[in-house]
Amino acid sequence: MTKIRTRFAPSPTGKMHVGNLRTALYAYLIAKHEGGEFILRIEDTDRERQVDGAVDIIYRTMEKTGLIHDEGPDKDGGCGPYVQSERHKAGMYLGYAKQLIEKGEAYYCFCDEKRLEKLKSSVGDEEIFVYDKHCLGLSKAEVEANLKSGMPYVIRQNNPNTGTTTFHDEIYGDITVDNKELDDMVLIKSDGYPTYNFANVVDDHLMGITHIVRGNEYLSSSPKYNRLYEAFGWEIPVYIHCPTITNEEHKKLSKRSGHASFEDLIEQGFSAEAIVNFVALLGWSPEDNQEIFSMQGLIKAFDYRHISKSPAVFDMVKLRWMNGEY
Ligand code: GLU
Ligand code: ZN
Repeated sequence: MTKIRTRFAPSPTGKMHVGNLRTALYAYLIAKHEGGEFILRIEDTDRERQVDGAVDIIYRTMEKTGLIHDEGPDKDGGCGPYVQSERHKAGMYLGYAKQLIEKGEAYYCFCDEKRLEKLKSSVGDEEIFVYDKHCLGLSKAEVEANLKSGMPYVIRQNNPNTGTTTFHDEIYGDITVDNKELDDMVLIKSDGYPTYNFANVVDDHLMGITHIVRGNEYLSSSPKYNRLYEAFGWEIPVYIHCPTITNEEHKKLSKRSGHASFEDLIEQGFSAEAIVNFVALLGWSPEDNQEIFSMQGLIKAFDYRHISKSPAVFDMVKLRWMNGEY
């Protein structure tokens, strides 16, 4: 059997939210439960969303919670994590996009903002954008002339717009989408950087990730990721999407309600151990309903098949109890 390899792949866009911490913890536990490996990868190719200091917050949180990753590019210098912007500078991603172009699974797109703007429509509050495949119709000669003249371009995934795509998630089961909904997403941006989506798939493959753990907000993008694996002829990993976390009023967790991030909770006097114990039970429960766990206890007990689909409620009273307050 191949060793289980999981990763935590945060984008450094702010604080370490409780949902992110849970993803990191579950990925860690799934690997360690089976004697596997856990990797930390900073997904920072979206320069606009970047927040200064966010990477340090991630490192500090991982350290404080004991979620120590197993390998990195500079292992001798202290097991540093992988950082996508550095991998990009070393030329990791563009070659893979070009492979897809060769296979007819991706194409150059030279459309300017003005043209793309016209493809946007809105339904209610929601803006909808579906690329119309205009540039897929360009001849090889046209593409070459455009590239030669230095025209800016992006590289898009070439998704079919008929038929359906099905993928399997360990928690949510089989999910089928109409291919009409699969937009030809951008893989390489006009600044040459890979999009988060593309770098994510390429790296999960190159790093031998067997189980992908993340929040269920990514469920709807997973068919597009699957198509990338198929286009490359790569083995599709096991998907484990975790349920939504809500506050006691069943609304999304927010900064204002004070339980949004790890630092907020530390500032309120909760111990890192209590937070980890509490977060582990946000969407997972052991068979025997045990509630107080050490990290070793969690590693031993954690079976991802017991992660639930229904939203987990952030119960402050329970966290206080785990913190020894009652
Ligand atoms: N970079 C994504 C995030 O910050 C990771 C999604 C994934 O784990 O695939 O949420
Ligand atoms: Zn175009």
